[in-house]
Amino acid sequence: MDLVMDARRTSAHAAFWLMTRRVTVLAACVDVVFFLFFLWSGPVYLAWINVLSVSLYVLANLLLRYRYNYLALLLIWIEVMGHAVIGTLAVGWGAGFHYYLLMFIPAIMVSGYLALTLLPLCVLFTLYVGLYLVATRAGPLSPIADHALVALNLFNVLVFFMMASYTARFFYQRVRQSEQRLREYAARDTLTGLYNRRYFLELAGKEQSRAERESSPLAVVIADIDYFKNINDTFGHEAGDQVLVHIGAILDRCCRAGDAVARWGGEEFLFLLPNTEASEAEQFAERVCRTVAQQPLRRAAQDSVLCTLSLGVAAVGMDKTFADALAEADRALYESKMAGRNRVTTTGPVVADSYLAERRSPA
Ligand code: GH3
Ligand code: MG
Ligand code: MG
Repeated sequence: MDLVMDARRTSAHAAFWLMTRRVTVLAACVDVVFFLFFLWSGPVYLAWINVLSVSLYVLANLLLRYRYNYLALLLIWIEVMGHAVIGTLAVGWGAGFHYYLLMFIPAIMVSGYLALTLLPLCVLFTLYVGLYLVATRAGPLSPIADHALVALNLFNVLVFFMMASYTARFFYQRVRQSEQRLREYAARDTLTGLYNRRYFLELAGKEQSRAERESSPLAVVIADIDYFKNINDTFGHEAGDQVLVHIGAILDRCCRAGDAVARWGGEEFLFLLPNTEASEAEQFAERVCRTVAQQPLRRAAQDSVLCTLSLGVAAVGMDKTFADALAEADRALYESKMAGRNRVTTTGPVVADSYLAERRSPA
């Protein structure tokens, strides 16, 4: 599970840097607009400062491409802060360059431990308030026409809305994806990737209710690898695991849309077949049995491991719960074993409870 969590952290990280790269492209485009704007409205020195800003974003983008991520981040911080301070002091608070400083609040808060966010937050707050006090008291160094100031402010508001909504959406989607993947991992058996027992039971409960509501048939098929202990003893436990993965993949391929298969226990698998009568489930189980018996696991050139399955089939009926059907399928499976293995049995007479208790006790 640790590996799984690490993989997720890595991918969330990768996505964060990808988002940062996209933001550098957007920011460079915005600075090109500023360049043209100040070339037209003045002061012209701000136009040239924007040439420097575009260069910084191009450099940051390249650094991100070659994975110098933190250096790129430093450049972005310097650019945004420098731009906000110079722009505000030059043309005034009314230009709205200070909005960009606010973009740092979510960036700081998602960057790490809460304790580590306090200092940058205080620095940002002090800078923001200090800039406000200085800019509103001292007035702009290079005032521009009123209509140009309004246009600049509206443009900055627009860009700020776009960036804030894009980054917020990005974080929301990351959370949703992680949640989705965690749910997926929690439902799977780690070795075979099939559903696990816990999730299968949840699914079975839902399917049983649906079958009752819609008066549709529902069947279960239990499958157990024959003489699996011998495989472990002959080829080793690791080979046994490979066999489980191999069989799991075959069983998964046998499923039709809507069917579900789980690793029920050590070398036992369970199918849930909605809209399936017992006779159809029996045909399905026969097909599974044949398929497994025809597909040995080829390991090295010299050895291949052929396994067979014994299967038991039962229907979940109006008067029979999933648990009842499972017990029936288990008895049928026992009959398949007793009759020589590598075969299918559809429900059978009750066998000794002591045997079932023994089979259900954990290995
Ligand atoms: P039968 O035909 O009666 O089912 O015989 P069997 O040998 O398959 O059944 P038995 O219950 O005697 O042995 C099951 C074996 O499965 C014993 C256990 O060590 C092995 N096993 C259970 N889980 C795993 C696993 O995850 N990996 C491996 N390699 N072996 C496992
Ligand atoms: Mg077995
Ligand atoms: Mg078994």
